[in-house]
Parts: sequence; C-alpha cells; structure tokens
Amino acid sequence: MRLSDLKPGETGVITKILGHGAFRKRVMEMGFVKGREVTMVLNAPLQDPVKYSLMDYEVSLRRSEAQLIEIVSIEEWEKRLEKKLHIDVETGDPDEMPVSRDKIINIALVGNPNCGKTSLFNIVSGAHERVGNYAGVTVGAKAGTMKYKGYQFNVVDLPGTYSLSAYSPEELYVMRYLREETPDVIVNVVVASNLERNLYLTSELIDMNRSMVIALNMYDELEKSKSVLEYEQLGKMLGVPVVPTKAYTGWGIDQLLDTIIEVYELRSPHTRHIHIKMRPEVEDGVRRLVDSFKQDHSLSPKFSPRYLAIKMLEKDPEVERMLEDNPNYKHWCAIRDNANQKIEDLLGDDANAIIAAEKYGFIQGALAETFQSGEAREENSTKIIDTFVTNKLFGFPIFILVMWLMFWTTFQIGTYPMEWIEMFVSWISGRIGQYMTDGPLKDLLLDGIIGGVGGVIVFLPNILILYAFISFMEDSGYMARVAFIMDKLMHKMGLHGKSFIPLVMGFGCNVPAIMSTRIIESQSSRLITILINPFISCSARIPIYVLLCGAFFPHYGAWIFTGLYVLGIVVAVFTAKMLRKFWFKEDETPFVMELPPYRIPTAKATVRNMWSKAKQYLQKMGGLILVASVIIWALSYFPHYGVDDVPANYYEKSLSEMPNSTLQQSDENKVSEMIAKEYQQENSILGNIGKFVQPVMEPMDFGWKTCCSLLAGCAAKEVVVSTLGVLYVGDDDAELLADRLKTPSKTTGEAPFNPATAIAFMVFVLLYMPCIASVTAVVKETGSWKYGLFSILYNTVLAWLLALATYRVALLFM
Ligand code: GDP
Ligand code: MG
Repeated sequence: MRLSDLKPGETGVITKILGHGAFRKRVMEMGFVKGREVTMVLNAPLQDPVKYSLMDYEVSLRRSEAQLIEIVSIEEWEKRLEKKLHIDVETGDPDEMPVSRDKIINIALVGNPNCGKTSLFNIVSGAHERVGNYAGVTVGAKAGTMKYKGYQFNVVDLPGTYSLSAYSPEELYVMRYLREETPDVIVNVVVASNLERNLYLTSELIDMNRSMVIALNMYDELEKSKSVLEYEQLGKMLGVPVVPTKAYTGWGIDQLLDTIIEVYELRSPHTRHIHIKMRPEVEDGVRRLVDSFKQDHSLSPKFSPRYLAIKMLEKDPEVERMLEDNPNYKHWCAIRDNANQKIEDLLGDDANAIIAAEKYGFIQGALAETFQSGEAREENSTKIIDTFVTNKLFGFPIFILVMWLMFWTTFQIGTYPMEWIEMFVSWISGRIGQYMTDGPLKDLLLDGIIGGVGGVIVFLPNILILYAFISFMEDSGYMARVAFIMDKLMHKMGLHGKSFIPLVMGFGCNVPAIMSTRIIESQSSRLITILINPFISCSARIPIYVLLCGAFFPHYGAWIFTGLYVLGIVVAVFTAKMLRKFWFKEDETPFVMELPPYRIPTAKATVRNMWSKAKQYLQKMGGLILVASVIIWALSYFPHYGVDDVPANYYEKSLSEMPNSTLQQSDENKVSEMIAKEYQQENSILGNIGKFVQPVMEPMDFGWKTCCSLLAGCAAKEVVVSTLGVLYVGDDDAELLADRLKTPSKTTGEAPFNPATAIAFMVFVLLYMPCIASVTAVVKETGSWKYGLFSILYNTVLAWLLALATYRVALLFM
C-alpha cells in the first residue's frame, strides 16, 4: 500500500521510501522514516496536496510524492514485530520465514552489454538465462528472486546499454524501467578490465541519484592482467560502494548482497551523492534549469532535477517527452536553447559532445588515482589470435572452415547417436505392433504418435551438436570477430556487421535471432535483417535434410547440407539487396562493434546451454509436435474406410497398376488390405486437402502426401518430417522412414521420392514461408502485419521458383 492510498482519518506505518536520493532525504528530514505512524488529515480541494499528521505535527505532501512512500496498516506492523521476536526466540532459519514488505529489496541490474549481468542474475536467482559473449543477448527484462539473510531480493536483468539516452531501443527500455518501476537498489555491473567505457553509464546513474551499488565484475580478468585497482577508494570517490565479483563462479556474490542490504537500509558508509562537476559554461545551464525545475512541484520525484537538466541540455527525446506536457515546458526549452547557444559559442562544440567529454574527463581522473594498468596478458593473446582471425587473407577461410566443421560434425558425428535412438524407436513400434490388437487406438499410437514424434525425436543429437557450436562461438568472443570481418561484405548488402550475428543465430532458431536484431540501431537495417532471417536455415529444418540426405545422398551429406545453408545465405543476400534498392531508402549509421577479449567458455555454461536447448526441443516434441502429429493422423484417418468400402472400379484400377513383384509375393487378402489403406488415405480429409494443393506442386512431381507435409510444416518445420512419417506408412511397422521414402510403393510401384525430387523438396523447405512462431516474431518486432505477410508470400513464391529450377537441373544429372 502507498501513503497516497490512505483515506481521511486512516493511519498507517511507513515501511519504505522510494524515489531519488534528494527526495528521500528531504521527506526523511520531514520525519517520514521507517516504522513511524502517519495519519491522513485531509485533502486539499483539488486532492493535491494532501495533509498528513506525523508525530504531533502536520505536513503536506503532493500526491505524486505520497505515491513513493510505502506503508502497512498498524495491525500488520504489530504482527510483524511479534513475528520478529518469535524468530529471535526460536532462532529459526530466517530464510524459511515469510518476508515482510520492508525486507523485500527490488534490484535492477544495469550495465553495458556483455558485462556479465545475466551471469550474475543466474547466480542470484538460480535461473538459466542465456549468456553470450557479445552485445544484445538479453532483450526485455527477466525477473527472479532469492532469499538471503531474511531479505527477499527481487532481481531484474535488464538489457545492456552504454548510456541512458534514448538512442537505441534497449536504452529507452532501461530508462523507462528505471522511471516506472523505481527499483530500490540499482546494481550497476561494470567490467573490471574495461573501466573507462563502463563507468560512463555509471556517471549517468550517479546523476540520477538513486540508491546504487557497483558490481566490479570479471575481477578475475583484472587480477590476471596484474592490474591494480583500489576499488574501495574508487567507491569513495564515486559515492557508490564498489564490490568485486566473478559472476561466472559466484565469487563475491555474498559480499555484493550484504552491500545491497547496507545501502538499502541506509547504513552504507560509502553512499553519498556527488555531482560530477562540469565546465562552468555547462554548469551554468544546468543550474538555471535545476532552479526552474525546483519551483515546479509537479515534477516527478523519481528523477533528480540535475539529471533532468543534463538530459534537457543533451536534448534527450525521452526526457523531452516526459516534460513536454508541463505548462512550463516552453520556458525550460528557452532556458535550454539559450544555454546551449552559449556553450556552442564559448566552447565551439555542441552540448552533447561537451557533456560526454566532461564525463570521460571525470572518469579518467578517477581512474588515474586508483588504477594501475599491469602487463595485460589477456590482451596479448587476444591480439595474437585476432591477427589471424580478423586478417584480410585468413579471416574468411577460417570462418568458412569453422562453418564447414560445424555442419560436418552435425551431420556425420550426429549420425551415430541418431541410429541408436532410431533403433530404440523402431523396437518400441515393433513391440506395440506385435502385442496390441488392431483398431483405431493401435493406429493412433503407431502411425500418429510414434510415426510422428518418433520420426522427429531422433534428430535431437544433431541439434545439440549444432547448438554446442553456436554457444561456443558466442561465449568465446569469436562471434563478435565474425561480425567484424563480415562488416565490409555486409555493407555491400546495405547492412552492417552487426546484422550478421542474428543471421548466425538463425542457424539455431529464427525466433530468438529475430528478437536479437534489437542490437541494430538503424531501423531500416533492422527491418531488412528481420526479413531475411527466415532464409537462414534453422535447426528445425535439420531433420528434413538429415532424413533425405541419409536416404538419397549418404556419401555427400555434409556437402548437400552445406550447400543448402549456402543457398539460404545467397537468397538472404539477394533479398537484402533488393529490399535496400526498392523498399528501404539508404540510411547508414556508423559501425560500432567492440571486440571483447577472448574467453574460454566454461564447460558448465556450454552444457547448461545445451541442456536448456534439449529441454526446449523435448518440450516442443511433447507439445506442438505431438498435437500436430495427432491432428494430421486424425485428418488422414477420418472418414474411415475398411476393406469392404473400396469401390470396385478403384480396386480394379489399383490392381492393374500394381507391380508384378507385389502380386507374386502377397496373397489376395494382403493385396486388398493394401489397396484399402491407400484408398483410405486418398479419400480422407487430409487426402482431399493434399490433392487440392498438389496441382501447384505438379511441376516438381511432388505427390499429394508430400504437399500435405509442406502444409503441416507451416506450424513448425519439424512437422514436415513427422507428417511424412504418418502418411508414408510401410507395411512392416518397424521399417525406417528413410527406407520407406525410397522404396517403391507396393501399390503403385512408384517411390515417394527420387534424388531429384528430394533435392527440390529440400530447397522448397529451406525457403518457403517461415513457421508460425517466426511469422509472429516478425510481426511483433516490426510492429506491423505488412512485414509478416510479406514474409509469407515472398518466401513461398521464391521457394517455388527455385525448387522448380533445382528440380529441372537435377533431372539433367540424375
Ligand atoms: P550480459 O550481456 O551483461 O548479460 O553478460 P553475460 O552474462 O551474457 O556474460 C557475458 C560473458 O562474460 C559470458 O561469456 C560470461 O561467461 C562471461 N563472464 C561473466 N562473468 C564473468 C566473470 O566474472 N569472469 C569472466 N572471466 N567471465 C565472465
Ligand atoms: Mg544478458
């Protein structure tokens, strides 16, 4: 409950005061401190301000201020005191006890991209969020909780930002979060080995004047480089306590939590508000704005006036938006313009540049006193690796080698565990076939569930291997290099090096890849990167390739694999160029991409990443794919026809088409059963849908069952394989799907696929419309249906054309 919720005559006890430091100090000086009783006396005529009585005297507060004071009822407060005594008496474990409101600390993790926020978050909350060694892994905020020393910590992991201006979507997000959620303590995570850049954000947070702790993360790297930082001294200078941590091992976390509690309880000896002094010309402007702000009590007490003033001078659009409804806004703009004009006249540069330079000056000064650089060993090995990896001559070959290795391992090494799972699945279906009595239930189990889910689950090892590679590239820092060497090439497509990271991530799954485009500042580059992402072959398409390559090209698997991925990339490049030319006008923001030092990813992080992927995959199997398989099965099973329902002319016709070999091997009963099964599938609901679409795919000689699988694949690409599994049933239940696809059908004598159709099919699957999840991501990230629709139509048409071309060419050779 907040103080503003009290009605006249009601009384509450204060538990917490939010808002920026100066505000908190002021209301505390007025007597609003924890544990004190407040009674609401009356409202002013317009409900503002409100009069309260407090320790026998009366004070008035604005509603907006009262909203930042948390209270509880007297009864609740007393109950709490009793409970506290109780715990003390029984010396029970405080972690087991329910935590009262004033012991709940809301924490926001704020810091540059890649400084270890998510690692810290995972340690504190026990969660398994993705960490990655490049910018933009965390998009949106994630929340978690933990209990420690009787306190409950609600931790929020925010996206990485370099500053708090409304420049990129992440910065805007963080700024709005800090404004709207008013966390109790901000934990500013900084990288110990790159202090200068990291402390810039800190300097802005200091302006905000909120309760804050600095986590000096990656302290191990600082130690390794033999540099010395007197962090306590630095903390004193900044007025913010500094705690060294190593987020990936958990070292220093307890110390960090203790310090957070100290700051929260206002007991920290190092906490004090400092002003980062700037040149007199700038300070003059700041002072005039602050003076004017202070006259206006309706300004939100959530931000300090100094922060607002500095941001006003910088013409920060978000702060302007915050203030523009205020009747004094015009007046403030006039002060601002006047001050900016003076700054430009006197210093010859705009306010933005001057303020940034002043802040860097402050940081350099602080570091000069506290920091001694050692021989940076890490840097050196990074430099040596970089001379090769980002070299003009070797950079590309190394990258292509890495990619090829990735696909070769995925395909070749993955085959062994895949065969074991395959054997297990066919053993199960053999058992069920033997022991269950015939009927719809057996059909559902065998053809629907095992045929569908079992057909897809075997690819788990391949997908895990692929994710191990991607995760290694991300964590080691190689991904950032790839973006770097790709920059020039990407510029030729009208994009950036930065756009390359979402593309490589797309090899895993297009959905997070599309979300990660938020690291791209330029809107048009971002849209293009989103739209070409579905052409990057995601891991859901692997089962299709593995299946068909295994069946038709067992010796060239890795080559065809790589070929398909390359085709996807070529189409993406082509599309990007076209989009840049015809749809999005040129706009270039300069390429800023830092190269983090290489780190050897911990086995723990990699295994964690793989496990979370495996879990997701299995969940998808048990959820979407199971449901889709059952639906597909039901559509192919109903309406149901038995042997007696087959019309005579259909029977005659099938009999005449049946190859002699089948007729010789099977008795009459078996033959009519086979014909009935075929009749059933053809006349089922699914059969009718498939046959309706089939003429469109006729030029590539895709059968109607193949068309059904493509339609079903719109839900998720894995479903293509499970649908093939449901529809192309063999007469021996345990027969492998790969074999079923290449053996001629016993009824028509034609095989479902031949090498040429197989390859055309793979091309079509690679390129046609993105799965539902990806389309949704496209719509959500672009904010418009237009782009989702474009993805569906353009991709499908292009897929059709290229699949046809592939088929015609393949026919010439095969
Ligand atoms: P975020 O972008 O701020 O969320 O950073 P992440 O948590 O994703 O971490 C970035 C990278 O730094 C990952 O590769 C982590 O494994 C690594 N990392 C995190 N904390 C430490 C640390 O204390 N020491 C070292 N050497 N590496 C760390
Ligand atoms: Mg993160």
